[in-house]
Amino acid sequence: MNNRINLTIDGKTIQTEAGKNLVDVAKENGIYIPTLCYFRELNPLATCRICTVKLNGRHTTGCTIKVADGMDIEVNTPELLDNRKAIIEMLYAEGNHFCPSCEKSGNCDMQNLGYDMGITVTRYPHVFSDKIVDFNPKRMIMESNRCILCKRCVEEVKTKDGKDVFSFVQRGVKTRVHIDYEQEEKLSESEALHAMNLCPVGAILVKGMIHEQPFGERKYDLLGKNILPKVTSVNNNLHKKENEKFIVATTSLAGCFGCHMSLLDIDTDLLDIIEIAEFNKSPLTDIKKFSKRCHIGLIEGGCANSENVHVLEEFRKKCDILVAFGECAIMGGIPAMRNFVPLKECLEEAYLNGVTTEIGAHIIPGHEDIPKLLNNVYPCNEVVKIDYYIPGCPPNAQHIWKVVKSILLGEEFSITHDEFKYD
Ligand code: SF4
Ligand code: SF4
Repeated sequence: MNNRINLTIDGKTIQTEAGKNLVDVAKENGIYIPTLCYFRELNPLATCRICTVKLNGRHTTGCTIKVADGMDIEVNTPELLDNRKAIIEMLYAEGNHFCPSCEKSGNCDMQNLGYDMGITVTRYPHVFSDKIVDFNPKRMIMESNRCILCKRCVEEVKTKDGKDVFSFVQRGVKTRVHIDYEQEEKLSESEALHAMNLCPVGAILVKGMIHEQPFGERKYDLLGKNILPKVTSVNNNLHKKENEKFIVATTSLAGCFGCHMSLLDIDTDLLDIIEIAEFNKSPLTDIKKFSKRCHIGLIEGGCANSENVHVLEEFRKKCDILVAFGECAIMGGIPAMRNFVPLKECLEEAYLNGVTTEIGAHIIPGHEDIPKLLNNVYPCNEVVKIDYYIPGCPPNAQHIWKVVKSILLGEEFSITHDEFKYD
């Protein structure tokens, strides 16, 4: 029986066999539908929703569509692309994803999609979840704060006698994956590695067998090289008199000053910058107070204490354009790792119980001159409006100045793959 059918994807007529999976049909025809939960022989799970497309005008998950004659599928409309980006941003905001220190970095499907979609910041506030990191299984570690509940492990990993190793426990926002310790012990080494590798993120790790490929040999190191630079057009209408220079201010909030070190790494190109700009308040000039309004303010670090908030708000008032540069400014970075521990416990560990605490010391510093610590470390965009983001830890020096110059001069700029990818 002839089961050839015709359908259209993004207006392109495609001939294929009825009943095939849409994600596969699209791929065969050069159209990419991103997925995270969809996995080889497994029945489509439809848990991540990233493959959402429009079928005859209605939203539905692409991985669950078996193609049929006359279907009209939309994949890459601006609305669908933005929906997909929003889903990835939600996953980033909901979990704890510190890619530069993650064992899966470079091999992670979600990280790759983040790069692919040009995500530099999430539009949602970070949750900084505090779920279980379970080291108890004999050979595995389950880092629930990175799990995206895709269900691949639950469906795919079984013992030889057919028992489940992974299962979902609890409900709603508390849902997490639990490992059955007894069944986990029965897995062979290769079966355990298979579990780690099928996880699209770095939630399942096998002790002593953690991804060991060097840079350049990881799953996604070479992919993405062909991603076209994303062009950003800039029209800020910054006003200044002819012959006057642009005024730049910089500050470091809860950061390590690495981003400011990177600013200086520009070396002799700094002379170029000085031709068009002068610095006002900045650790680079040691000018402590704004003496005039600035065209652009560069912010390193997030907000960890009351002084950080005050400085950031002052920058927002005194600068026409605010740029958050570096991961700490964009998502809290390493300082935000304290967000999983109550502030009281952090202080007790630092000043009373820590191994480096001086014997006999029993005071948590507190004085009206010492800025008050906030309960959490906050990304800058959760405190004031931020106009541009420069990702990196730290961002590349040439890239920082390319962006700054383009903003000042109102020119288009593009982010190349190498500048954007820093894991
Ligand atoms: S699991 Fe992936 S996205 Fe999350 S921190 Fe690790 S590399 Fe980054
Ligand atoms: S542990 Fe990994 S494979 Fe299992 S549900 Fe979470 S993200 Fe998916």
